[in-house]
Amino acid sequence: MCHVRMHAFLCRVAYTDDVLILGRGLAGAVLTETLRARGLRVHVFHRTRTGSASVVAAGVVNPVVFRRDVLSWRATELLPIAKAFYTDFGVRNGVEVWHPTELVKLFPSPKEVDQWARAMAAHDTAHFTDRRAQPEVETASVHAPHGHGTVTQAAWLDVPMFLEKQMEALLQHGALTEEQVHAEAIERQADHVRIGAHTARWLVRCEGAFTGAEGLVPVKGEGLTVRISGLRLTRMVHRSVFLLPMPSLGEDVYRVGATFKWDNVWEGPTVQGRAWLLEKIAGITDAPVEVLDHWCGVRPASRDRRPILGRTGACEAVFNGLGSRGVLLAPWCAQHLADHLFAGKALDPEVSHARPALRSNAPDTDRVPE
Ligand SMILES: Cc1cc2nc3c(=O)[nH]c(=O)nc-3n(C[C@H](O)[C@H](O)[C@H](O)COP(=O)(O)OP(=O)(O)OC[C@H]3O[C@@H](n4cnc5c(N)ncnc54)[C@H](O)[C@@H]3O)c2cc1C
Repeated sequence: MCHVRMHAFLCRVAYTDDVLILGRGLAGAVLTETLRARGLRVHVFHRTRTGSASVVAAGVVNPVVFRRDVLSWRATELLPIAKAFYTDFGVRNGVEVWHPTELVKLFPSPKEVDQWARAMAAHDTAHFTDRRAQPEVETASVHAPHGHGTVTQAAWLDVPMFLEKQMEALLQHGALTEEQVHAEAIERQADHVRIGAHTARWLVRCEGAFTGAEGLVPVKGEGLTVRISGLRLTRMVHRSVFLLPMPSLGEDVYRVGATFKWDNVWEGPTVQGRAWLLEKIAGITDAPVEVLDHWCGVRPASRDRRPILGRTGACEAVFNGLGSRGVLLAPWCAQHLADHLFAGKALDPEVSHARPALRSNAPDTDRVPE
């Protein structure tokens, strides 16, 4: 037996688990599934705190950055990986969580029409953008004086369903401890970590915005659940905000979001946030709006808008920085981190937690929402 395999064998015998994971938002849940699929023993410690991003995530997967109509970071590579991951999860758990859909962008001015035309002609975005007719949008009471474009390969992930099913699977295997882990509860040894009765070769911190990792930028987001009677949309629509039909919540019920705010991120839902969202809905339709719910969370973004991954200590690693596109990013990130920790693959410098762009003296983030 070679030295590396012998070491892996001894670890398996010596420790209760292969990996301990802190936090079970999208990052922790997707990583757990990825590692378990590779035959690794995982134990998760999690307590949902107020502000957890995954609890309120709308689940929209949009490969196009609407501000400029360019592809989001590595979308061509990430999208098939995300689709395969969530579809496979659904099949294994007897639920449908990944829903391919069209996303309709309403153009507020002729400038956006030109920008979209350029996207449709550009090599990388042509495949994702189109100006097909949307009779449903055209006949609905929606303001679209300059027309609309369609993102052809968008999707919606049922995040609550995904997280719930993932939790059930963990509980069934006794692989989840539902408690907050404080810093002093983590014992670090030269070749393993311990939390309570659990020991493992690796601890991976998937703590979202609830940590002080270097380069992490917490960004607050608020959203509304509304009823807009008579609107009858079945597709996602975007104009400044997303309007996402939620037929499972009732007829003409939509989730609308979200705001972006970089200060006082933990203050919870605000009157100003609600007013801003209602103003944006008024830009989409004149139909009366009934607010059913107002929610809010804190996105774990990073200074340069890239994920934060990698080994941070002898037995410790980080998986963070999913920002506003966690659904799309998480499966690729989980695979990449698993390859790095367990298959000796080099970490991509663009996502490394040690990259210079995350240091506090690096240029400040571009604080414009994507
Ligand atoms: C309003 C809003 C709308 C969004 N909409 C979308 C969307 O449509 N599409 C999309 O792709 N993304 C969306 N996002 C972004 C997405 O929610 C995030 O990218 C993603 O959820 C981040 O996941 P995470 O696991 O890193 O963090 P979190 O979801 O915050 O999860 C971390 C969890 O770990 C727990 N935890 C932390 N430390 C510990 C500890 N020491 N012990 C135990 N538990 C711990 C926390 O309580 C928390 O529940 C949205 C975000 C917001 C705020």
